Amino acid sequence: MALLAGGKSALYIDGKLSDGGAGTFATLNPATEEVLGVAADADATDMDRAIAAARSAFDDTDWSRNTELRVRCVRQLREAMQQHIEELRELTISEVGAPRMLTSMAQLEGPVNDLAFAADTAESYPWRQDLGQAAPMGIPTKRTIAREAVGVVGAITPWNFPHQINLAKLGPALAAGNTVVLKPAPDTPWCAAVLGELIAEHTDFPPGVVNIVTSSDHGVGALLAKDPRVDMVSFTGSTATGRSVMSDGAATIKRVFLELGGKSAFVVLDDADLGAAAGVAGFSVCMHAGQGCAITTRLVVPRSRYDEAVAIAAATMGGIRAGDPTNPKTICGPLISARQRDRVQGYLDSAVAEGGTFACGGGRPEGRDVGFFIEPTLIAGLGNEAKVSREEIFGPVLTVIAHDGDDDAVRIANDSPYGLSGTVYGADPDRAAGVAARIRAGTINVNGGVWYSADAPFGGYKQSGNGREMGVAGFEEYLETKLVATAAN
Ligand code: NAD
Repeated sequence: MALLAGGKSALYIDGKLSDGGAGTFATLNPATEEVLGVAADADATDMDRAIAAARSAFDDTDWSRNTELRVRCVRQLREAMQQHIEELRELTISEVGAPRMLTSMAQLEGPVNDLAFAADTAESYPWRQDLGQAAPMGIPTKRTIAREAVGVVGAITPWNFPHQINLAKLGPALAAGNTVVLKPAPDTPWCAAVLGELIAEHTDFPPGVVNIVTSSDHGVGALLAKDPRVDMVSFTGSTATGRSVMSDGAATIKRVFLELGGKSAFVVLDDADLGAAAGVAGFSVCMHAGQGCAITTRLVVPRSRYDEAVAIAAATMGGIRAGDPTNPKTICGPLISARQRDRVQGYLDSAVAEGGTFACGGGRPEGRDVGFFIEPTLIAGLGNEAKVSREEIFGPVLTVIAHDGDDDAVRIANDSPYGLSGTVYGADPDRAAGVAARIRAGTINVNGGVWYSADAPFGGYKQSGNGREMGVAGFEEYLETKLVATAAN
C-alpha cells in the first residue's frame, strides 16, 4: 500500500477512513513552501463521532481487559511503521522540515522502535498487587490493588516532533488499555493521518480504539478537553494552550497531563572545558532549527570568560547554515511556517531594542527567499531579564548570560517560569552534580549525558507541565488505581 495515495489524507474514526465535515486543508513543505497535498478537515460533528466511538470501544468491548490483544496491536503498528519507514522518512522531511539526519533518531525511527517499550511494559506490568490481609475496623479483609485504564484519552499534539509525540502518547495509552482520539497539529496532519491508514490496513485494533481527527480548527481540539465522555487529556504544546486545556478540563475534573514549553539553561562552571561546552551549546540549539521544547536556549557562563564563550559559540553557530533538510549533512532546516519565522524575527528585533547584539546571524539567510528559514543566531550583551531570556523563542537562537559563581548560575537557571530541562558542564563531577541537583527541571544533562530514551521519564517542573511521558512513569500516567477489599471470613 502506498501511503497518502492521491495526495489526500482521511480521518480515521470508528475503524473507517472518511472525509472531513469541513472539507480539506492544505499541508505545506516548509523548506519550499510548496503545497504537498490536502488533509481531511474535521468539524465538531466529526469530533463528536470520534469521541462516541472511543467511548463505546472502551465501555462495550474487552479492550481494556485484554492485555494480549493490546500488546499484539501495538507491536503490529510498530511493524507496519517499520515496513513503511522510507516513505515515512520522506514525509517527515517534507511536511515537518525535519533534517534527514534526525529521522534516524527522535524524529522517526527512535519513537517507532520505542513502541516496543510500551508493549513490553503492558506485558510484564504488575496489574494486580496483593496488599495482604488486615482487619480494618475489626473486619478481616483481603486487599488487592488493581491498576486499570483511565478510559477515553484525548491526545492533542504539536508539529515539531510529530511522530515522537504522537507515539509517546498512543503507545502507552493504548497498551495500558485506554481508547484514544488523537488531534494532531494543523501544520503536520499527514504525519498523524498515516497512522490511521496503517492501523486500518495492518493491525487488529478494534474499531473505535484509535481515532485520528485532523483539523485546521484549534477549537475542534478544545472539544476533547470539554467533553464529559473524555476521561483524560494528554496534551503537548505551548504553555499558553496548556493553560486553556487545563481550564477547559476543569468543568469535568478530567485528568489533564501537560507537556509544555521550556527555556532551559546550559550552565558552564568555571572549571569546565569552555571550548567544548560553548561549542556543544551552539550546536544543539541549531538542531531542527531550535524547534525542540527541551533545547537549552540560555548559555550561562562565568563572567570572566564571557567574551571567550561568545566567540566559541558564534564560531560554531556561524559555521552551521540553515538549509535544505533533504541534505544528509543539514542539521538546521526551516521553521515550520511563515508565522513561526515572523515570530522568531520579532524576538530578534526585541533583542536589538533591549540593547543586545548578534555575534552571528540575526535574520533570514541571504539568498534563501523561499522557505521559512532563520539563520543560527547568537545574542550577546543581555541579562536574564531580557525578553529573549525569559520567553520561549522556538528558533535557532541562543542567548549568552554571565554568572558570578555556582550559586548565581543556579539562581539564573531557576529564574524562569519554565523548568523543563537543563545542562551543567564542569570538570569536578561532584560539583557539577551538586549544581545539577539544585536546578528545578525534569531532565538534566551533566557533561554531555543523554536523558532521552524509551525507559527514561521526561517532563517538566513549574509551567513546563505536569506528569511524565515515556518510561514506566509515562505508562502509569494512563492508569487509575482501584483498591479491592474482599471480606476474608
Ligand atoms: P500549540 O500550543 O500552539 O498547539 C499544540 C496543539 O494544541 C495543536 O494540536 C493545536 O491545534 C492545539 N490547540 C491549540 N489551541 C487549542 C485549544 N485552545 N484547545 C485545545 N487544543 C488547542 O503548540 P505548537 O505551536 O503546535 O508547538 C510548539 C509548542 O509545543 C512549544 O511551546 C513547545 O515547547 C511545546 N512542546 C512541548 C513539548 C514537551 O514535551 N514539553 C514537546 C514538544 C513541543
